[in-house]
Amino acid sequence: MKSVIIELTGGPEVLQYVDRPAADPQAGEVRVKLAAIGINLIDTYHRSGLYPVPLPTGLGCEGAGVVESLGDGVDDLEVGQRVGFCMAMGAYAEEITLPAAALAKLPDGISNQQAAAVMLKGMTVDYLFNDTFPLHGGETVLFHAAAGGVGLLACQWAKHLGVTLIGTASTQAKCELAVHHGAAQCLLSGDSELGAKLDDITGGQGFPVIYDSVGRDTYRLSLNALAELGTLASFGNASGAIEAVVPADLAAAGSVYFTRPTLGTFLARPGWMLQSAERIFKLVEAGALSVKIHQTYGLDQVAQAHRDLESRATTGCSLILP
Ligand code: NDP
Repeated sequence: MKSVIIELTGGPEVLQYVDRPAADPQAGEVRVKLAAIGINLIDTYHRSGLYPVPLPTGLGCEGAGVVESLGDGVDDLEVGQRVGFCMAMGAYAEEITLPAAALAKLPDGISNQQAAAVMLKGMTVDYLFNDTFPLHGGETVLFHAAAGGVGLLACQWAKHLGVTLIGTASTQAKCELAVHHGAAQCLLSGDSELGAKLDDITGGQGFPVIYDSVGRDTYRLSLNALAELGTLASFGNASGAIEAVVPADLAAAGSVYFTRPTLGTFLARPGWMLQSAERIFKLVEAGALSVKIHQTYGLDQVAQAHRDLESRATTGCSLILP
C-alpha cells in the first residue's frame, strides 16, 4: 500500500511517499481501508520533532474508512463496517491497523469525509468547552485562530451553546469566515489596538476564559485580557511554545488559572472517546456543526499540505483523499 513515513525529523522534505505492506491485524486489532484522512497541525509537530515520536514512523493521526479484516477476539465490528479514529499514528496511508478500541462506528448520517475532518478537532472543542472550562451558555469567551480547523468548529459549537465567541484571525477574509460560522465578532490578530478592543468588548471586565492555541505570540495578550479568576486554556503553540509561565504573572493578572490541556488525557479516560464521538456526530446530524472540507490533497501531496498549514494558508478542515 502507499503511505507517508518519516525516518528523520525536519521540514516537509523529510516526508517520504513509499510502498509498504499493510500490517495484518493481530488479536484485538482491525485493519481499515482508509477513505479520508484528517490533517492536523499536530502532524507537523510530529514531522518537525517538536513533539518527539519513535522513528521511523508513519504520520497522520485521524481518518475514516471501511473495516477490511479483523484479528481474533474482535466481535463488536464487522468487515465492511464504516469506522473513524483519531490520535493513532500512521493515518497517512491507504490502510491502517489499529486496536478495535480506538475505532468509533460511523452512523449512516456521517460520511467518511465528515468523520475524518471532525473527530480530532471536534473532540478538542468538546473537552475545551465541556471539561477544561465548562460553558453553560451566556458567557463571552475569546478564541484565537478562530478560522482554523478547530476554530471553525468552536465558532459553531459556541453558537449552539448560546455562548458569545469573540475570535481572532490573521486576515479579514478569515475573520469573515469565523463570523459566518457563528463567531459574534472576529478581530485581526495583528491589530496593534487588539488589547484595547478586547477590553472594550468586555467593558474592562475581561474574559472568564480564553482558548489559546497560538501560544508564544498571544500569551501576554491573553493574560491581560482575562477576567479576575479567569482561565487561560493554552492548548497549542502554533506560533511557538510559551517560554515560561511565571506564577507571579498569574497573580498580577488577577489570580488567574493557567492550564495546558491535551486531547490525549481525555482519550485515555475509559469510554470518553466513544461518548465524545457520539456528542459530535449528533451535533453534525442535527446541523449544529457543519463540516465543510476547505482543502483536499492526494497522499502524494502531503508535503504541500504541511506547507499550506504551517504558512497559515488554510482555513477550516483539510483532508487527504487516498
Ligand atoms: P489550524 O487549522 O487552526 O491552523 C493553525 C492556525 O494557527 C493557522 O491557520 C493560523 O491562523 C494560526 N497561527 C497563529 N500563529 C501562527 C504561526 N506563527 N504559524 C502558523 N499558524 C499560526 O490547525 P488545527 O485546527 O489543526 O489546530 C489548531 C490548534 O489547536 C493548533 O495549535 C493545534 O496544535 C492545537 N490542537 C491542540 C490539541 C490539544 O489537545 N491540545 C488538539 C488539537 C489541536 P491565523 O492565520 O488566523 O493566525
